[in-house]
Amino acid sequence: MKIGFIGIGHMGGPMCRNIIKHSGFEVSVFDLNPEAVQACVDVGGIASASMAELAANSDVIMTSLPMPKDVEAVTLGPGGIAENAKSGSIYIDLSTNSPIMVKKIAVELEKKGITTIDAPVSGGTIGAEKRTIAIMVGGDKSTYEKCMPIFESFGANISHLGDIGSGCIAKIVNNMIAFCNMGAAAEGLMLGAAAGIDPEALNQVIRTSSGNSMSYRGVAYKTLNGDWSPSFTIDLAYKDMHLALELADELAVPLQVSPQVHNLMRMAKGMGFGGDDATAIMRVYEETLGREVRKKS
Ligand code: NAD
Repeated sequence: MKIGFIGIGHMGGPMCRNIIKHSGFEVSVFDLNPEAVQACVDVGGIASASMAELAANSDVIMTSLPMPKDVEAVTLGPGGIAENAKSGSIYIDLSTNSPIMVKKIAVELEKKGITTIDAPVSGGTIGAEKRTIAIMVGGDKSTYEKCMPIFESFGANISHLGDIGSGCIAKIVNNMIAFCNMGAAAEGLMLGAAAGIDPEALNQVIRTSSGNSMSYRGVAYKTLNGDWSPSFTIDLAYKDMHLALELADELAVPLQVSPQVHNLMRMAKGMGFGGDDATAIMRVYEETLGREVRKKS
């Protein structure tokens, strides 16, 4: 089986390198960033000259791209997968994508004899490096089973959720919960600091109390160190919250907390922090109140 991987950034990079190292399959790679390509070539990947070349030579084509519009361009746009992939090939989208977009792509690719499954992932860049990420799959079950050796080469908790788009729905719900948690963590840390408690001492208490969570620990670590370098940007988190709100609109499900957190991210983007780590929603509170929450140096 020949694999082609498009989009080897923060998340796609480590996932692709693990497929190269652990699947035993030949892996071709394509990205707009030559350094990202080189990092995969260094561990045995093959650089493709274009998306078209990659798509034409692969049995399974995988993407990990930022926005739904990027996935649409790579799949249905000029020089993309629909135009160039072989009939009988499989397309796996690992991006956190809109379920509506994934279904549209699946319908279009089906016309060319290409089967689509959505397989968004969770666990962050560290999980991607360590091969512990969760993979949430939607689409044809037998195609899912056929792709299992690929999934097992880069992830750990692999689930089939249902029809095409189901993986994206599970992922969007997961991220909605995680980001609401982050918003609460940022507010809580600021409230405690403003009330005069040493942030590091407060952090030690929360880490061993009921406020603890993976999202909380992420916000606390980045805040106390004043380190907003991204492994997952505010821009991507904002996109995910938008997808959750869009899904709720479609289904008329009331959301109370999520729209507030979406707005918090909108403020962060408006303040110029869109390229920072998602935990930098704390910066909205810091800028508003004119105080930082840091550990003592
Ligand atoms: P990223 O911006 O770091 O990487 C995206 C890569 O795609 C870049 O290398 C970019 O050059 C490439 N790219 C963009 N358009 C392209 C095109 N037309 N052709 C070829 N390459 C193109 O983003 P990321 O953080 O790796 O996120 C990718 C996806 O994974 C997103 O949907 C995100 O929501 C999801 N995700 C990210 C994380 C994380 O922790 N970063 C975790 C889970 C899921």
